[in-house]
Amino acid sequence: MSNRLAAVRHRLEAVTDPAAVDGLLITSAQNRRYASGFTGSAGQLLITRDAALLLTDFRYVEQARGQAPDFEVVKTEGHAWPYVAEQAARLGVRHLGFEAEDLSVDAHLRLREAAREKHPALELVPLRGFGDTLRLVKDAAEVTVIRRAVEIADRALEQVGATLRPGVSERRVAWLLEAHMREHGADAVSFPIIVAAGPNGAMPHHRPSDRSIRAGEPIIIDMGCIVDGYCSDMTRTLVLGEPDATFWQIYRTVLRAQQTCEDGLKAGMLAKDGDKLARDVIEAAGHADHFGHGTGHGVGLLIHENPFLSKTRGDLEVPEGAVVTVEPGIYLQGWGGVRIEDMVVVGRDRCQVLTTAHKFPVVELVD
Ligand code: ZN
Ligand code: ZN
Repeated sequence: MSNRLAAVRHRLEAVTDPAAVDGLLITSAQNRRYASGFTGSAGQLLITRDAALLLTDFRYVEQARGQAPDFEVVKTEGHAWPYVAEQAARLGVRHLGFEAEDLSVDAHLRLREAAREKHPALELVPLRGFGDTLRLVKDAAEVTVIRRAVEIADRALEQVGATLRPGVSERRVAWLLEAHMREHGADAVSFPIIVAAGPNGAMPHHRPSDRSIRAGEPIIIDMGCIVDGYCSDMTRTLVLGEPDATFWQIYRTVLRAQQTCEDGLKAGMLAKDGDKLARDVIEAAGHADHFGHGTGHGVGLLIHENPFLSKTRGDLEVPEGAVVTVEPGIYLQGWGGVRIEDMVVVGRDRCQVLTTAHKFPVVELVD
């Protein structure tokens, strides 16, 4: 964890003028955990060049001392903001940077009020994008855990998928997949599982309903789990029995788009150029208007994080070691949709696909 703390300090120096920010307040659960190792649900980190404090309440003090040996644990009671102001004063922090995307307006007001009393000279400096890019590059330990989360989801999809028969409801399928993942080591699902059959599949984030799945229609299944805090994310599109002619045409196009992106994506690319690799294939097939979301997103402690392989949010360079999804889709109103999603680790010359669930969409109806 010392490495992480050093990386946070290093990054702070890289993105801000040390005179402009001489202390950092971390409030988001994911960055608190990332920087300190502390997995509790409440707490703040106060980091300067020389000091590292973890403020948390009675419930977590012991856990925090065990999990975050690089941090001095400060016990809080009630709102943490007076303690933050007090400690900032003790450490001589004048310009305290905070995660602009995370600190609520209410917390900001409370911190300002507390500072007025305990440390009037304290200035609060919003850092935009700082917390969001801290975790871009995954280290080997992170990738190992992510692989386990990927593996659990892959096997659940393959094993449950093969048993599905017409008449089963979307909701039931979602539950079978969730139960399988939980029984095989997942701590939780990484998001509510999407099962979208037939026309429902035209809505990329449809919630599973009581609708019975029919033979021959496409079923989009988007799922993942959490292992040791890290998420997995995968989509397969299945058909129970014989698909129609439209299906094969669409499926081949989506698969080609995905393959093209997985073959071409590498470190140093702008995330939006990664998106373009897949989008060009879908556009060339005449489906530009039927692919209304980004090609992929980072995955880690959060299910959606930087970098975003996206036309509109893809200005970051994709670094070596980023873990992202590649998930093009085509959605036809009234018919349904096809999406295929893998997770990959971005490498210097190419990326490595983590997802191993097979991509043959047809579930044979033998019995
Ligand atoms: Zn997904
Ligand atoms: Zn995804």
